[in-house]
Amino acid sequence: MIVTRFAPSPTGNLHVGNLRTALHNWMWTKKHGGRFLLRIDDTDGERSEERYVAAIRADLAWLGLVPDGEERQSARFALYEARFAELVASGRVYPAYETPQELDLKRKIQLGRGLPPIYDRAALALTDEARAKLEADGVRPHWRFRLSADPIQWDDLIRGAQRFDPATISDPVVRRADGSWLYLLPSVIDDIDMGITHVVRGEDHVSNTAAQVQMFEALGAAPPAFAHEALLTGSEGKLSKRLGSLGVAHFRDEGIEPQAIVSLLARIGTSDPVEPVVDPAPLIAAFDFAHFGRAPARFDEAELAGVNAKVIHQLPFDAVASRTPAGMTAGGWDAIRPNLERVAEAGDWWSVVEGPIASETTEDDRAFLAQAAAVARELDWSADPWHALTAALKTATERKGKALFLPLRRALTGRDHGPDMTALLPLIGRDRAVARLDDAAG
Ligand code: GLU
Repeated sequence: MIVTRFAPSPTGNLHVGNLRTALHNWMWTKKHGGRFLLRIDDTDGERSEERYVAAIRADLAWLGLVPDGEERQSARFALYEARFAELVASGRVYPAYETPQELDLKRKIQLGRGLPPIYDRAALALTDEARAKLEADGVRPHWRFRLSADPIQWDDLIRGAQRFDPATISDPVVRRADGSWLYLLPSVIDDIDMGITHVVRGEDHVSNTAAQVQMFEALGAAPPAFAHEALLTGSEGKLSKRLGSLGVAHFRDEGIEPQAIVSLLARIGTSDPVEPVVDPAPLIAAFDFAHFGRAPARFDEAELAGVNAKVIHQLPFDAVASRTPAGMTAGGWDAIRPNLERVAEAGDWWSVVEGPIASETTEDDRAFLAQAAAVARELDWSADPWHALTAALKTATERKGKALFLPLRRALTGRDHGPDMTALLPLIGRDRAVARLDDAAG
């Protein structure tokens, strides 16, 4: 059974990079019929806010990524305490007493000597007396995880074989002097406790993974599989600040449909082409970490807008009915849909159907339009009135092509282009069509 988790910290709104990670976790789980968990990483009580928890839930729901369960780290401190105590007892976690200033000075000295700024483990070398003295002086330790010297390796589902020499990494701090938790250890404790089989996250976490692989082992668990995806870049090709502020609120304002986000984010950065779909089933079926590339995935808002239009052209009326103008019918939606880039534009085209419209006629077209009104009045409106109208006028006037169609379109819709007249004219109906042609004929 596959179990994944999406683990945001509720310290802000989800941005497009987060949405992509959530989506991939969800898709992988759906593909295998597993469980997708939302884990709220709220150990930082000061920066975490309830409104962001609510926003995270709402954003996932909007995208259709419904979690099979939700957990909150703030409700799990007792477990962290217990597992932490085990690691302290086994010597894998140790107290360290340096102040930030002392650590900073050490780093500067190392860098000055051309050495990598790796923690020197001075805390491990403290004698019992020295430690007792620090404690007596009221110095509260922070806590570090002691990395073992064994090489760290894992087969990343995206990056392939990964190898780290622990000697190149500082023993990570897992708990602050005030007792609060850093992200690394609670995450591992939770991944074990929740039976997480796959950790899917951004490649900015690769060095965390190196340390976490050893934490899993120190806690007696086999590490899960890891998939670290290349980060998103903006259309200009650079890691952009703007991406960090693009989230669901922005996309909704822009008239972007959730299916467009899903379609695009499922595929960018992979070898599979972007396919605009309403139902993600084919994307899920084809989802494969082996198709992900190592190069950054390019997120382009113009591409998203294009995908969005193609999604809208497939959306059935019942999916959009609540957002379309009153009185609009499924037939109306089907006629207008191919012309939309946003659902909100449906109202504009519907007003063309219902009128009133304003049209301008050139002198040359007046007689022609008067003739059109006369033909329209007599037409059998039940079949294909546009075809019947234009065929009759073509024979009667010898007009063809643009000279035939454009004055009619202008007179009937007030515009030079728009939805297919074959679909639109039956919606406009005989009475309105005749009146508009009469008006235009002047
Ligand atoms: N809370 C962490 C983050 O938002 C979770 C990372 C992870 O998936 O383990 O970066």
